[in-house]
Amino acid sequence: MARTDAIVLGAGIVGVSVALHLVKRGLAVALVDRGGAGEETSYGNAGIIEGNTIFPAAFPTDLAALMRIALKRAPEANYHLSFLPQVVPWLMAFRRASRPQRLIETAHAMRPLFARAVGEHETLMQETGASRYLRKNGWLKLYRSAGSFAALKPEFEFAAQLGIPLEALDVDGACALEPSLAPVFRHAVFWPQAASLSDPLAVTRAYAARFAALGGVTLKGDARSLHRAGQYWRVETDAGALDAEAAVVALGPWTPDVLGPLGIRLPLGIKRGYHRHYTAQGNAALSRPVLDNDAGYLITPMAQGIRLTTGIELAARDAAPTPVQFDRLMPKLRELFPLGARVDEKTWLGSRPCFPDSRPVIGRAPGEAGLWLAFGHAHWGLTLGPATGRLISEMMTGATPFCDPAPYGAERF
Ligand SMILES: Cc1cc2nc3c(=O)[nH]c(=O)nc-3n(C[C@H](O)[C@H](O)[C@H](O)COP(=O)(O)OP(=O)(O)OC[C@H]3O[C@@H](n4cnc5c(N)ncnc54)[C@H](O)[C@@H]3O)c2cc1C
Repeated sequence: MARTDAIVLGAGIVGVSVALHLVKRGLAVALVDRGGAGEETSYGNAGIIEGNTIFPAAFPTDLAALMRIALKRAPEANYHLSFLPQVVPWLMAFRRASRPQRLIETAHAMRPLFARAVGEHETLMQETGASRYLRKNGWLKLYRSAGSFAALKPEFEFAAQLGIPLEALDVDGACALEPSLAPVFRHAVFWPQAASLSDPLAVTRAYAARFAALGGVTLKGDARSLHRAGQYWRVETDAGALDAEAAVVALGPWTPDVLGPLGIRLPLGIKRGYHRHYTAQGNAALSRPVLDNDAGYLITPMAQGIRLTTGIELAARDAAPTPVQFDRLMPKLRELFPLGARVDEKTWLGSRPCFPDSRPVIGRAPGEAGLWLAFGHAHWGLTLGPATGRLISEMMTGATPFCDPAPYGAERF
């Protein structure tokens, strides 16, 4: 029977970062995925490495916004009616976690991870030659109504407390940063310390290549074959069965497929999201991610073109795509930016793996010796992959963790 020190299941940005950190600490590691590294959720995101994130996405409190969503008129959110009965308990928990005091607690709990996000990526990028995909030119958020801008007050106050720089801009200030934008908004906020990637897939692949160069083994296999075999965890791969004393489950939105049969039930929800790519008309250009907050979408320059990502869709992970949000947001986008032709024929659909309290699970699986969990990074898995890899590898090897991992424990549920 083939044996290794640790098996990492899932080669998204989280699993690849965990595997790379473990191999750098001298463990023999096998990284198992049914596909190629970084090809799922870690490919299709908006590419933002957001060390500045303060408050997580919250349940809407504005009645008008709720009505718009309920009536399926909101660009920022959609839902499948048939999925609502299933998602209601999760939504209620999400609503409770969205109370102002809870958001502040979450912001404090997540700070150590976000504070290291950009730096941990940069370290891996320098080792892997991936620095060319990194843009350190911030993130611009636009607000069309005075009300949505005024609602940022608590975030501004918290940013000041933490010493996170931001610039509140008028239309001219925002257009000086992004000259192709039309003045259809009233306010803007520039977060200079946010970074972004021009090609998230290429970055995950570069980290995976570094893992292989350091002696890590990459295998194809179905993670659902994970089971106990005596003192070991065993997984079936194309190269045969493989045993290890430690296994890390980092399967993003697919993690419940493996944990469910083991009797581990954690309240993971799914917020689906879509993307499409476009050219820009004439000399129009975009140099950084731009969020059109009130219209519920984000545009960001990528290797493939200008990537338009949608807000959230509450629907079963594997339900057929329903990209209706594009119909609602395209008129708003076309008035903001001179968009050219569509580049891709197929709309990409992915699933953000989200716990109701907007914290990931990083640490031991409850009741299962040798089983570790690293998933549920919601809107910020690309940002937090490398910091997660460092933290869990420190925990697994008995090193002092760079921060207290308690807020991310599965035991909190
Ligand atoms: C529209 C959208 C925009 C986003 N924008 C951002 C952003 O700007 N910044 C940011 O930080 N985050 C963003 N995110 C979130 C981020 O993309 C995710 O949190 C992150 O990619 C999750 O990474 P992961 O490694 O946990 O999961 P994944 O990347 O999904 O990796 C899971 C892996 O598990 C494998 N797998 C699944 N089932 C099996 C099986 N049975 N056997 C073997 N392998 C299996 C898959 O093949 C996959 O490779 C966005 C997400 C979406 C949907």
